[in-house]
Amino acid sequence: MKRPGKIVCVGRNYLAHAAELGNQIPEAPLFFFKPTSAVIGPGEAIRLPSYSKQVEHEAEIGVIIGRSIRNVDEADAEAAIAGIICVNDVTARDIQRTEDQWVRAKGFDTWCPLGEAPVSLDASPPWQDLEVICRVNGEVRQHGYARDMAFGIPFLVSQISRIMTLEVGDLISTGTPAGVGPLRPGDTVEVEIPGVGTLSNPVVASDA
Ligand code: ZN
Repeated sequence: MKRPGKIVCVGRNYLAHAAELGNQIPEAPLFFFKPTSAVIGPGEAIRLPSYSKQVEHEAEIGVIIGRSIRNVDEADAEAAIAGIICVNDVTARDIQRTEDQWVRAKGFDTWCPLGEAPVSLDASPPWQDLEVICRVNGEVRQHGYARDMAFGIPFLVSQISRIMTLEVGDLISTGTPAGVGPLRPGDTVEVEIPGVGTLSNPVVASDA
């Protein structure tokens, strides 16, 4: 698929995940950017640089924007969603602990595996019923439901639209449930959203 114009991510949006890293749910959604240069497609390799000793998977429900919106309410935000897509917000946990802005922790090349194409909400369950599962080498590591998000999908899209114009093709990654864990060379990591699809990527070591 075409690379998104921008990627807005949400941190600490599931209580159990925030707790597993010793954090609380923020009072307002915690947004950050991931560079579009990090995007890879299904089957492409996630590269582990020597720069980090603790690279982890974060299976997430991604939202692709279908029309330009700015400062819209939740109903208009939900209506502007073109579809749902699998995202892996690959993260260097060791680096993340050392910085407030997660440019290094989240920004390496290949660290935003993205599903083949978005699936429209009409063809999938209501957003609260969306489910996301992460498997590494076939073993389930993460399993969460959108209804357990601290901030729901229409609210997130509406809040982001108060700050910046969301344009066709932009990606919003809505946070990860509990169970994040390490990726190692030779692993295969899968993000499945039932009704949407499964994103599978091999993991390789990188010299960089
Ligand atoms: Zn994330």
